[in-house]
Amino acid sequence: MSFISSKQGSKLSISSVCVYCGSSNDVAPHFKSVASDVATALAQRGITIVYGGGHVGLMGIVADAGLKAGAKVIGIIPEHIRSKEVQHNGLTELHVVANMHTRKNMMVERSEAFVILPGGLGTLDEAFEILTWKKLKLHNKPIIIFNEGGYWDIFLALIHQTVKEGFSQLPDLGLFKVVTTVDELLAILESEAKPSATVVTSKM
Ligand code: AMP
Repeated sequence: MSFISSKQGSKLSISSVCVYCGSSNDVAPHFKSVASDVATALAQRGITIVYGGGHVGLMGIVADAGLKAGAKVIGIIPEHIRSKEVQHNGLTELHVVANMHTRKNMMVERSEAFVILPGGLGTLDEAFEILTWKKLKLHNKPIIIFNEGGYWDIFLALIHQTVKEGFSQLPDLGLFKVVTTVDELLAILESEAKPSATVVTSKM
């Protein structure tokens, strides 16, 4: 596997990152800023961005900022929500797929790590699914929760609650990492080994 140099000269072994995030435009400016900052930082390090293919909310901001900073941006969108999420027409690759399940499988297959930015129900679904799939050993890729402004505090508390009450196990807390800055995110991506390409999509 080749390493990719950034403008800053840093090298990451991870070359593609899936960004899960909200599709709503109606959110506070700091959420939009962080989406832009994350995408720009990934792009500057030569990392391909994989995301849901829409041009709305943080999703659109991630795609636009990534493209502007020179990233390859791959969108994967189901046919039935192309108009709802305003399909992005300027992407490096846009895959129109039959349904949500194909979309989510493809996002996992095409990515070597996952960043979960603030989002709504769709992002929650994606977050829980990628965590569950890791717990079930269907993949072994880094999952990083970007806890912008404490947005994910309640989500994290809920996961801790499942451990406290015995519904999950202590090692489950090791399925993911939490960051609050772009630098922390990059440090984790730099420290992570390139994950095995094996993804058991047939069981997802
Ligand atoms: P949201 O966080 O609700 O704004 O949605 C973010 C992304 O998740 C959008 O691209 C949605 O299409 C997608 N999404 C919504 N519902 C689901 C679901 N049940 N499974 C997977 N993705 C979803």
